[in-house]
Amino acid sequence: MVIVGAGECGTRAAFALREAGYDGTIALVGSEAHPPYERPPLSKEAMTGEQAPSIKTIADAARLAEHRIDLRNSTTVLSIDRANRSVRLADGSDLAYDKLLLATGALPRKLPLQGMGGRSVCLRTFDDALLIRRHLRQGVRIAIVGGGFIGLELAASARKLGADVTVIEAQPRILMRGVPEEIAAVVHQAHVAEGVEIVCGDGIASMEDDGETVRIVLSSGRTVVADLAIVGIGAVPVTALAETAGLALNNGISVDARLRTSDPHVFAAGDCCSFPLAVYGDRRVRLEAWRSAQEHGALAARNMLGAEEAHATVPWFWSDQYGLTLQIAGLPDEGDRTIRRDLGDGAFILFHLKDDGRLVAASGIGPDNAVARDVRLAEMLIARSARPDLAALASTAVKLKSLLAA
Ligand code: FAD
Ligand code: NAP
Repeated sequence: MVIVGAGECGTRAAFALREAGYDGTIALVGSEAHPPYERPPLSKEAMTGEQAPSIKTIADAARLAEHRIDLRNSTTVLSIDRANRSVRLADGSDLAYDKLLLATGALPRKLPLQGMGGRSVCLRTFDDALLIRRHLRQGVRIAIVGGGFIGLELAASARKLGADVTVIEAQPRILMRGVPEEIAAVVHQAHVAEGVEIVCGDGIASMEDDGETVRIVLSSGRTVVADLAIVGIGAVPVTALAETAGLALNNGISVDARLRTSDPHVFAAGDCCSFPLAVYGDRRVRLEAWRSAQEHGALAARNMLGAEEAHATVPWFWSDQYGLTLQIAGLPDEGDRTIRRDLGDGAFILFHLKDDGRLVAASGIGPDNAVARDVRLAEMLIARSARPDLAALASTAVKLKSLLAA
């Protein structure tokens, strides 16, 4: 078994192969120099400590050795020879496989205008986090291009450290993709209350980076001058290996519900692939979220061993900014109408329903873990294609658990 990409998904797959009883060799090949590590802390708690960020490993050398997982880090896979079932590594050697998993993840989308002086950066890796953290301190001017998750989580972290932060979002509002307006408004207000300036509906006309400062001229003519510009304008799936190997692509590496590519010996999982999501009538999606990368890794591993198991879970992700946690189960854009349930302390959940009454998503926001349990229960209702009573959904007097039992 050869796994390309030693991130969240690839690493989970390696362990899942062992959990499923596989006893043969497992090679986990990753370009990065570090042991497999968690990315979510990089924009959050790892960024706000007194010290330089420390790495949160998914599995250290001892655990990998215990499970006989052959981690080859600092090693890039250059090509796939599907006819001979082998991959070519950067050192020129070949690695044969019976089954291959591509868990190559995604990389930050680059701004075509991005400056050259080293003061315009993106965040994806631990090394990126180290570089960004070096700049964050009281009074430093940070411009963040993109009001998505990376941008907003970093804005919160940078404010915690006393930086001056301006977020520039081309869309009319932040978190336009995938987050309902009512929830985005709470996030927006939290940032403004913490002193972040958010500019929406204004694009980047030009950006110059002379190695000391970055000058960003917006489409409106306004100029934002910063000591560091962080560009968080989305992620693109890493598909070059699959593409040159002639595998089918479709918004990432195209896989079926079993995470199999157009070659039955090759699987793809995590941020790099699109797949049919059963809970929405096989709508093809590409998810960029921690839990789905884990679930994909485990599912791909079982199917690499012949399980023939179809993807059956509901997407879920979270974001932490200041003391607020946002959680979304399902895809809110599947809904035709919304019911709101207030949970107190400013926390609330929106239930997204189809016209026929089927619950298709739930999104919530509140302090700390205020929405976690109800979003989890909603996720179970979504998985069952439940059509809950609307008044019951809105009323805190009715426990969601009772709807599940019904
Ligand atoms: P990745 O983690 O990107 O791993 C892919 C690995 O493959 C990389 O290490 C790459 O170097 C390697 N690779 C690629 N090509 C090759 C090759 N040819 N040869 C060898 N190796 C290769 N999700 C949430 O749900 N909640 C969060 O709060 C959250 N926070 C995040 C914060 C940050 C800063 C980032 C960047 C992401 C965050 N995410 C969050 C998203 C989540 O981390 C990703 O969805 C998840 O990491 C995807 O896992 P993956 O294994 O598919 O890809
Ligand atoms: P993102 O959430 O897709 O947000 C990017 C934002 O930037 C979008 O609102 C996008 O608008 C906007 N944008 C695009 N081009 C722009 C431009 N030229 N000028 C200004 N704004 C522009 O992606 P991200 O925040 O960059 O995150 C990158 C990856 O990290 C994703 O995979 C994400 O899932 C992951 N991540 C996740 C979390 C989490 O789940 N909590 C946290 C951090 C990172 P459009 O929609 O119009 O493109």
